[in-house]
Amino acid sequence: MEAYGSEIDRVLITAEEIETRLAELGEAITRDHAGQTLLLIGVLKGAFVVMADLSRHINLPLEFDFMAVSSYGAATKTSGVVRILKDLDHDIEGRDVLIVEDIVDSGLTLNYLLKNLQARRPASLEVAALLRKEGIQEVDIDIRYVGFDIPPEFVVGYGLDYGERFRNLPFVATLKPSAYA
Ligand code: 5GP
Repeated sequence: MEAYGSEIDRVLITAEEIETRLAELGEAITRDHAGQTLLLIGVLKGAFVVMADLSRHINLPLEFDFMAVSSYGAATKTSGVVRILKDLDHDIEGRDVLIVEDIVDSGLTLNYLLKNLQARRPASLEVAALLRKEGIQEVDIDIRYVGFDIPPEFVVGYGLDYGERFRNLPFVATLKPSAYA
C-alpha cells in the first residue's frame, strides 16, 4: 500500500487470503450456531476490521458490542497487565457470545477477558481470532475459530497497529526495522 511507502517489509497474509478464510469461518459459525441470535463482542481497537468483515459472512441474527482493553501501546511486547478501558454496553447473562479478536499472542489478554465475561453468566462463550501466534501462548486457551497461525513476529495491518498506524492495510505484514525508529 502506497500510503506507507517503504515501511512494509513482507506481506504474510494477502487481502484475498483473509477474505477467503473469513468466509469459511463465517460459514462454520453460521452452521454451529443455527437457530441462535449471536452476540459478537469485538475487542477494540484491533478487532474492528475483522468484526466488520467476518460478521458479513455470518448468516444469523447478530448483535454487536465492544470492549476496549489496554494492550501494547507503542511498544511491541506484552506486559501481561490487562485493564478494561471500555466495558460492554449491555448485560450478557443468558446470551450466546462470540468474542472476536484480531490476534492472540501470549493469550494473557484473552484469558483475562474470558474469565471476566464468564463471571457474567453467558449461555455460551466462544472465541474467533483472525491470527494466532505459534508457540507463544503462555496460557492454554480454546479458540474455536482461528483464521491463521503465524510465526512469532510482530505484524500490522487489517486492524493491527504500530503506534496507531497501519490499521487500514488490507493485508497482514511485518515492518522494516526503519519503521520502528
Ligand atoms: P496477548 O495478550 O495475547 O499477548 O496480546 C494480545 C494483544 O496484543 C492483541 O489484542 C494486540 O492488541 C496486541 N498484539 C499482540 N501481538 C501483536 C502483533 O504482532 N502486532 C500488533 N500490532 N499487536 C499485537
